[in-house]
Amino acid sequence: LNQVTEPAQTFDTKAIQALDTAHYLHPFTDFKDLNQKGARVMVKGDGIYIWDSEGKKILDAMSGLWCVNVGYGRNSISAAVYQQMETLPFYNSFFNTTNVPAAQLAAKLVEISPPQFSHVFFTSSGSEGNDTNLRMVRRYWDLLGYKDRHVIISRHNAYHGSTVAGASLGGMRAMHAQAGLPIPGIEHIGQPNYLESGRGMTEAEFGIKAASWLEDKILETGPEKVAAFIGEPIQGAGGVVIPPATYWPEIQRICDKYGILLIADEVICGFGRLGTWFGSERMGIRPDLMTFAKGVTSGYIPLGGVMVSDRVADILIEKGGDFNHGFTYSGHPVACAAALENIRILEQEKLIGQVANQTGPYLQQAFAQLASHPLVGFANSCGLVAGLNLVRQKAELQHDCVLFGTEQNVGMICRGYMFSQGIIMRAVGDRMIIAPPLCISVMQIDEMTGLIRSALDQTLEDLQARGWV
Ligand code: PMP
Repeated sequence: LNQVTEPAQTFDTKAIQALDTAHYLHPFTDFKDLNQKGARVMVKGDGIYIWDSEGKKILDAMSGLWCVNVGYGRNSISAAVYQQMETLPFYNSFFNTTNVPAAQLAAKLVEISPPQFSHVFFTSSGSEGNDTNLRMVRRYWDLLGYKDRHVIISRHNAYHGSTVAGASLGGMRAMHAQAGLPIPGIEHIGQPNYLESGRGMTEAEFGIKAASWLEDKILETGPEKVAAFIGEPIQGAGGVVIPPATYWPEIQRICDKYGILLIADEVICGFGRLGTWFGSERMGIRPDLMTFAKGVTSGYIPLGGVMVSDRVADILIEKGGDFNHGFTYSGHPVACAAALENIRILEQEKLIGQVANQTGPYLQQAFAQLASHPLVGFANSCGLVAGLNLVRQKAELQHDCVLFGTEQNVGMICRGYMFSQGIIMRAVGDRMIIAPPLCISVMQIDEMTGLIRSALDQTLEDLQARGWV
C-alpha cells in the first residue's frame, strides 16, 4: 500500500458541484433532491480510507460499492493497466480473435473456481452478467429440446442489477414499479429473512421453510417449465440478509430434485468477501452458473462475467452453433489485466484466509458487542459483511423488538452521523450495513467499530431530543 497521505491537491468543491448539478444524472438518485444538496466530491483513496474535496478523511466501510476488495491505492494494478494500455488498449473477442490477458484471466478464474467450472463468459458488469445468465439458461434448455423450460425463479428483495433482465430477476419493488418490470417468465418467492418472517421458528426451521417456497413455486409453475433458480449467497443490497445455515443446502436439494439450474449471483460474495473465493463454497452449494463483477478487479476497472459449469458449457459447445450474445467489451484486455493483478494481490497477501481465520471472526465479535448498544436490536455478520438493526425498544427475542416507523427514516439519520464521524455505512431501512475492504486489519476494525459506536450514541441523543425513544 502507498503511504497514507493527505491529498496535496486542493479542489474547488462548489465549482465541481455546480458542473455536477448542471449536467450529471446520478444512478439511483432523486435528481432534484441532490441538486438542492450538492454531491459530496470524492477525490482520493488509500487503503481503507477515502478523502473528499474538503480534505475530510473517511473510513470506507462499504468498499466503494462492495467492490474495492484489495483497498484503494494499489500501484501494481495501475501499473498493470498502464502497461496493457500501452501494449494493446483494446481488441474485441468477436470474429475468432482473443487477447493475452483475457485468455490468461479465463484460465486463472477457472483455477480459483469450484471444480465444476472450466469456462467463463466475460461482460463489463454484474447486470450484463445476469442478462447473460437469462439468455444462456434458456438457450441451454432449448438445445436440449425443452423449449418451454424458460421460467427463472428469484426472490423478493433480491438485487441482480439494473438492466431490463437484471432488474426483472431482482426483486426490488421500487425498481419493478418503473418501466413495466418484471419481464415475463420470471417468478419471485420470499427471501430467507428470519427477522421478517421467522417468528415462532428456530433459525434452522425457518431456513428449511424458506427453501420450501422454492419447491412450492416450482410445483405451481410446473417443473417442466422451470429453467433455473437465481440467488445471492447473502443478499447484499437487500440489507445483508444472512440466511440460516439450513437454507442453501435445502435449495440445492430442491434444484437437484427437479433438475433445475442453480445460478449463484456472486457479484458481492465473490472474490473473498465471505472468507472463501466464492460465497457458494461458504454456503455449501454447487451452482451451475456464477455471476461475478465488482471484486474481480476490486472495482479499479469495470469487469464482470459468468462462470459456466461443464454441465452448461458442454451443451453450448457441442450442440450450440453460434451463441448470439456478447459485448464490445467482453474480455477487454485492460480490464482483464487489472483483474489478473488484483487476483495476484488477493493470493499473495492471503487476504481470503485472513478474512476466514482472523478479521471475519474478529468482526463477528465486534458486532456482537455493538448489539449491547441501546439502539441496536440485533447484529450479525458473515466474513466481512455485517449489519445491525436500529430499534425503538430492545427485547430478548429478535422478533419482539419494537421498530421505528418507516417514515421516521432513522437509518438515514444514523447514516448522517456515521458520515460526520468519518465512516461510510449504508442504511437499508433501519438496518445499517458494512462491507469493508478485505485488507482491513484487526486494529482498523477496532477503529471502525469505535466510530460506529460514537455515531450510534449521537443518533440516540438526537432521537431522544425528538422524543422518539
Ligand atoms: N448482482 C448483485 C448481487 C449486485 O450486488 C449487483 C450490484 N450491486 C449487481 C448484480 C449488478 O452489478 P452492476 O452494478 O455491476 O451491474
